[in-house]
Amino acid sequence: MDFTSHVERIVTAAANLVNAVTPGDAHGRGFDQPAGEDLRLAISEALRLGGPEAPAVTDQDAAQLVIFAGWLRVVFDAVGGGDLDAAALTLNALLAETGARPQLDRHDGEPWHLHFHGSTDTLAQGWAAGCASGLAIFLGTEMHDRLGVCTAPRCDRVYVDISRNGTRRFCSTTCQNRVKAAAFRARQG
Ligand SMILES: [Zn+2]
Repeated sequence: MDFTSHVERIVTAAANLVNAVTPGDAHGRGFDQPAGEDLRLAISEALRLGGPEAPAVTDQDAAQLVIFAGWLRVVFDAVGGGDLDAAALTLNALLAETGARPQLDRHDGEPWHLHFHGSTDTLAQGWAAGCASGLAIFLGTEMHDRLGVCTAPRCDRVYVDISRNGTRRFCSTTCQNRVKAAAFRARQG
């Protein structure tokens, strides 16, 4: 796995985590934070990234990740609103809070590659440190405008645009299709 693809994976996990646990609106309706087992499963799925194994999430991990996801949400909202200063300050605080540090790891037959660890080896701290590091790498480059908040009505889910042309405006094809359908109806009217 090369550096770029690892960073893309952890920023995707950051967006997934924000979307899984932060309350607001999703795809045209209200979204409440899940609780209990639903919360643990939602977080596990968010961090799975399509891989074969979903990580085991304890209640304590879930509680911590909800707090970290709130910070990550602030970063996406700030970038989406054009306030890069607020996004950078929040990320710096989160990097400090999680004790994020780079470390070369080698596992599963892969070559040595760079991971980001937290100050402890808990799942919550590790993922929060990784997500903060990935977002910081994006924010510190011309990729900063690739973080965004869905522009569809009644949706505040977030996304990372890793497409080549970088023209994404919606959290999902669900919202893209909602907006297209509304535009079509408007033309018919
Ligand atoms: Zn959306």
